[in-house]
Amino acid sequence: MPESPIRKIVIVGGGTAGWMAAAPLAQRFAAVGGPSACEIVLVESPDIGTIGVGEATLPPIRAYNRTLGLDGADFVKRTQGSFKLGIEFRDWGSVGHRFFHGFGDFGPAIDARTPWQHWLRLSRITQGLPSYEDWSTSTVMAKGNRFTPPVDGAPSAANAYSFAYHFDAGLYAAYLREYAMERGAQRIEGLIVDVELRPEDGFVTAVKLKDGRRIEGDLFIDCSGFRALLIGGAMQSPFEDWTALLPCNSAQAVPSERVEPLTPYTMSTAKAAGWQWRIPLQHRTGNGHVYCSHFISDDEAAGTLLAGLDSKALDTPRQLRFTTGRRKQGWVKNVVAIGLAGGFLEPLESTSIQLIMDGVGRLIQFFPDKQFKPHLAAEFNRQMALQYESIRDFIVLHYKLTERRDSELWRYCAAMPIPDSLAHQIELFRSSGRVAIFDPGGFAEPSWVSLFLGLGLLPENYDPFIDHIDPQALLQHFVRLRQAIAQTAADMPDHGDYIRRHVQAP
Ligand code: FAD
Repeated sequence: MPESPIRKIVIVGGGTAGWMAAAPLAQRFAAVGGPSACEIVLVESPDIGTIGVGEATLPPIRAYNRTLGLDGADFVKRTQGSFKLGIEFRDWGSVGHRFFHGFGDFGPAIDARTPWQHWLRLSRITQGLPSYEDWSTSTVMAKGNRFTPPVDGAPSAANAYSFAYHFDAGLYAAYLREYAMERGAQRIEGLIVDVELRPEDGFVTAVKLKDGRRIEGDLFIDCSGFRALLIGGAMQSPFEDWTALLPCNSAQAVPSERVEPLTPYTMSTAKAAGWQWRIPLQHRTGNGHVYCSHFISDDEAAGTLLAGLDSKALDTPRQLRFTTGRRKQGWVKNVVAIGLAGGFLEPLESTSIQLIMDGVGRLIQFFPDKQFKPHLAAEFNRQMALQYESIRDFIVLHYKLTERRDSELWRYCAAMPIPDSLAHQIELFRSSGRVAIFDPGGFAEPSWVSLFLGLGLLPENYDPFIDHIDPQALLQHFVRLRQAIAQTAADMPDHGDYIRRHVQAP
């Protein structure tokens, strides 16, 4: 029995992070006694508002929603969502080149070895072997604009893929707010102007609002966005700045009309000073230009964004600024930072909501009592650091492995020093086609392989363990699998039709 259980949690901020933290905590405490077990209070200020972007996700969001017991179809309808099979990268690596980072593997393992190694071997001995992308079911589906959810249970070799969602971030936060409040979470509107600390140990005892109200708590979850009110302000956790590795520091975002066909993937197009995203939703398209303000003016960046739209803009571009990096410690004393308060990596691989989910998951896993044993925070911080660094390396790889030298940004990236962990990863792949997994919960081998090959790095060697397999039999297997994948995708409905039939927003 914990001697002194947490009786009140105060969540500072009601953006995606705040409500993604509130929902599973409210679910848990509603099941074990509601507010009498533990009160959950979320404070947000309409004067400050939320960042309002964050529309593309990764597949584990489905597990998060499932744990809450959300109905998948209802969720897509309520958030004007669409399905995401991966990201198409255009003009990354070199201008005119395209590749796809799909969710899922390149077919099943062969002889307990990763399938793409066999493709690599075959590519050395077979003239005209099609691209490895033909063995990624999600990629083949995406190229044909096809979508249907994978069959649960035992999918066939051709039916092995995963998916995530695109959604309207504001609607998602509202959806989770309703969920959390139905389960007892309370919402307070007000501007926090001061943080009260216990003199003897510096723990937060309360936040004070502009109107004089004082909100006490045992545990404080800082979801105040880039302001990092508690973790950066009151707790003074230093910020580790990664701008030298990821120089983009600004974005312009604008919605535009819905585009047909509704693509089941995010599009990322590299530009002279950054890159542009396109995210298809049911009611509109989300667009943004992420760029480095040292290499382009804001006006020019807005012009690039508008010129790159596929449909009519519904507003004028909105300016956003950010610094890439993370808090050295996301959990200090009785403050745990979740979301942008804990750090930010640019949205190239849609990883921020994933970091929120994993942060909340870890907080629940290492949930403290009022003694706040330091090893709980230490383990949370260790795991978060590993995740941030692993994602950072994955994103830096997009910039580093480019052949582009046509603008200052790309020349800077080609010349910039990279972390040892990434240098090791690149050399490991270049020399042997192997991938190092630093964070077991992070991007898996197929994602790294998609990126390496997509950016044009073909390894010097393949796995010597697979050399014994008869190449003709192997080729036949690959030919059959490719046909099966192509047929499976061709038999699926068009993504837009699937949405109209099953999850159309009212
Ligand atoms: P915010 O949304 O900023 O919320 C902060 C909250 O704190 C607000 O409710 C505010 O009222 C409150 N607050 C702050 N100060 C006070 C105060 N003094 N008193 C009271 N309340 C206060 N993520 C993805 O996963 N996928 C994407 O595609 C993606 N795209 C992005 C594109 C860009 C350009 C940027 C910048 C981010 C993107 N993100 C993306 C990240 C994503 O937007 C955020 O991770 C997510 O929205 C969570 O934000 P947040 O809740 O931490 O902060």
